[in-house]
Amino acid sequence: MQNIWILRIGHRPQRDKRVTTHVALSSRALGASGIFVDTEDKVLEESIGSVVLRFGGDYKIETGVQYKKMLKEFKGEIVHLTMYGQRLDEALPKISREKDILIVVGAEKVPPEVYQSADHNISVGNQPHSEIAALAIFLDRFTGGKNLYSDRDGQMTVIPNERGKTVVEKHS
Ligand code: SAM
Repeated sequence: MQNIWILRIGHRPQRDKRVTTHVALSSRALGASGIFVDTEDKVLEESIGSVVLRFGGDYKIETGVQYKKMLKEFKGEIVHLTMYGQRLDEALPKISREKDILIVVGAEKVPPEVYQSADHNISVGNQPHSEIAALAIFLDRFTGGKNLYSDRDGQMTVIPNERGKTVVEKHS
């Protein structure tokens, strides 16, 4: 089975806490297997770990990774999301459906070697916006939305409901 990994570079724990948390949560919700973050951030690891514990699945988080090494050694295809990249609709059919993919998103300016290491530099529209939006749209298109309501077998499961909140809690 193909794994989709996220690599978040340029994370500044004070400034990017909320955005990187949302990069991780959105990618988890849309079917990614885990996230690697370049700067060590134990608070971020705990906060994502606590969501995984409650809502299930086996999403992995590792912070303090050497991203250049990871880009060199990754066995699979590297997808870099950037507003300067090729069109999403043209790029999608070229991405492997068998090998693992590593999706790179930045926080601020991304160094040139990321563009060079990537197998695919892909834009989600040619306007500047956000890593959370770019990742969510990319993952939704790449997976066809198939993970939106997948069962994660968590302590808590939210049951879709037109009105009100329906939550099933597992008691161990
Ligand atoms: N100005 C920065 C640069 O030169 O890379 C962009 C910073 S932007 C706030 C942070 C990240 O959002 C980028 O590294 C990229 O991954 C993502 N992003 C923003 N707009 C995008 C777009 N139109 N298409 C794809 N990714 C985008």
